[in-house]
Parts: sequence; C-alpha cells; structure tokens
Amino acid sequence: MTEDSSKRRLGRDEIIEMASELIAIPSPTGTEVTIMTWVTEWCDRHGLSYEVFTKDPAQPNVVISVGNDDGPTLVMNGHLDTVPVSDPDAWISGPYEPRLSDDGKKLYGRGASDMKASTGIMMLMCKLFKDTSLQGRLQAHVVSDEEMAGSKGTVFLMEEIEAGRLIKPDYCLIGEKSDLKVRNAERGLFQIEIVFHGRASHTAAARVTGINAIAKAAKGILALEGDIDKFHPSVGKPVISINMIEAGVAHNVVPGEAKIHVDRRLIPGETRESVVAEIREKLDAVAAGDPDFKYTLIEDPHGDFIPANITEEDSPLVQAVQQAVRDELGREPEFFVAWAGATDGRFYRQHGIDTVGFGPGGENAHGANEAGFVDDLVAEADVYAATIEQLLIG
Ligand SMILES: [Zn+2]
Repeated sequence: MTEDSSKRRLGRDEIIEMASELIAIPSPTGTEVTIMTWVTEWCDRHGLSYEVFTKDPAQPNVVISVGNDDGPTLVMNGHLDTVPVSDPDAWISGPYEPRLSDDGKKLYGRGASDMKASTGIMMLMCKLFKDTSLQGRLQAHVVSDEEMAGSKGTVFLMEEIEAGRLIKPDYCLIGEKSDLKVRNAERGLFQIEIVFHGRASHTAAARVTGINAIAKAAKGILALEGDIDKFHPSVGKPVISINMIEAGVAHNVVPGEAKIHVDRRLIPGETRESVVAEIREKLDAVAAGDPDFKYTLIEDPHGDFIPANITEEDSPLVQAVQQAVRDELGREPEFFVAWAGATDGRFYRQHGIDTVGFGPGGENAHGANEAGFVDDLVAEADVYAATIEQLLIG
C-alpha cells in the first residue's frame, strides 16, 4: 500500500469518525429508523440531496445522489442494519461504544466490519465528489434489512427501479468485507432435501424385517460429503455441506425414514439440473451395490434458489476497479475470496447491473469484539475514489 498521504482523498481520522458515529447508533435489523434518520440529517448538514424509500416505516432506505445525467450512474451499496448482540459480556468494550485499538489498526464495535465503516466511506464519497464536475451520477444506496431477506432493503430498491421511481444504475460497488479482493462473482445458493426410505420395525427384528433409514442416510451422506473437483477463477470451488438431519421416532423403533438437508453453493457454469444430476449419480452408485438403498430428492424446497452470478472481467466496472487497485495499492488485484457468503450484489446482477464487491478486511463479524481493519478502510476509500474518477470523470 502506498504511504503517500498526499494522494489520500479521505483522511484516516475522517473515516474512523464516521464509522464511530454509525456504530454508536444501535441498528439491529428491524430497527433501522434511528440510524437512517441520522443519515438524512448528516446529508442535510453537508448539502447532499437524498431520497428516502420506505417499504416498512421501521426500515427506511436512503439514496444519496450527486452528479447529473451526462453519463453512467455508479451506485455504492452498503447496509446499516446489523445482527443483534447475543453475548454483551464477551465484549471488551460495549458493542455500541466504538473503540480504536492501541496501535490504531482495529476499530471495534457492532457493525465495524459488517458493514458500517464501509457504508460510512460511501457516504463520505458522495460528500467528496459533491462539488466535482462529474459526467454521470454517483449514488449511495444506504439500505436496511440486509441481514435478513433484504425484501425491505435492496430488494425493495430493485422494485422501485423496475417501477421507474428510482434510476437504474449502470454499475454497482458492494462494500462488504472482501479483504480488498475484487469480487466480480458470487456463488449461487441451492437447497436440496433428500429423504432416505427404509422399513420401520421392532429393534428385535432389525436384521429380519427392518431396513434402517438412518444407516441408508449415512451411506448417502458419505457419498455426497467432500471436496468437489471444480474451480472457477472468480469464486473458487463449489461447496456441498449436509447441515441437518431428521430421523427416528423412538429408541426402540428402527427408523423408516431419514431426511437430510443439503446446502449446495454453485459456481458459474453450474445449473440446478447439473447439480441434481451430479447428486443422483453419486447416490445411484450407492444404490447399484445395495438394493435396499432408496431415496427421494426434493429440489429447492423453499423456492429460494439463486444461480451463481458473475460480472465478466471485460466490464468497464471490473476494469476500473482493477486499475484502481493497481494505481492506489501498487499491486495486481486478487479475485476470489476463499471464504465468502452471498451479498446484496446478487440482486443487482440479477437485474443486469454490472456489480463488483470490494471491501475491507475485518474480524469477528456477527460475534463479540467485531472489528474493522483501519488500513484496509483507508485503502478501500482510495480504490473507490479512483474507480469513481475513472468512470465518472474519465
Ligand atoms: Zn453485511
């Protein structure tokens, strides 16, 4: 990282101060109104135009806008809801009392990593570019309801875009933790349930008339659990994990049925059909050696399948972020994050909007002593500013 502070567009202190203000306002999902009111007051103080989009009065969203119609619209999306605090006594300082480590490198507090500090940077970007003559528009989608389903947050903003009440952006930056890597794709989410069928009986008849469904499920699980030998340069490997099992009715009854819940994360190129075929192939191989091995597969039981989504590398946004990383951080951009969950970025990609995740590193998100890494926040701000300059100033 460059140490030339004269290049810095945002000061380290300014970033920490904004993050601390946001951390100090509790905003677990469902209770975002106070923090969103603070955001609108901050915009008023700095002469920034904004609009509030509300599906649920308790969970408003604020869209801050600078610039004009003379070019593309670049959105930065950040959420200000957090998960609740489940273990207040495990915190060294209170979750809503922002605290800087002695060396100044970590900022502690609920939301410091996920993702108030990053959202604060987006707000500061709007202020930074307010008086710059832009060829296009810079917006911050400051949203609620990310930690739950997003239906009152980003999903609602997408509905407003579809209805023509909010401008459709060309590009979107997502500020969730990415360890300063360029996330141009996200794995898809696919739930599958598999019911293994046996034959219930008295324990004494387990070897006579019984067929133990738990034993069949165990074979099935062993066949499915493991590394999947595929790789995509933007998201890494697919993942399969059997995360729940339900079986048995009493200690003295051989179980006639066992159900497992499979969580499968897809990479670009994989489809529902290809994944189901892969699972069936593995289970059918077991069945080939065991005539009593029978199962039923239930695809997408909750109807919330999400395909893997990608913004191709030749997108002007991906190109601009990559160049910004080279220019500002002095290194070649890295792509996939080995551990990375889904973000609101998927909703933008589903609407055909080029989207890149780029955010800081941090630790203990959702846990006690959550922290954001301050050097990374400064770097994120530099990369955002340079990306904005490339796309909206040229
Ligand atoms: Zn988050």
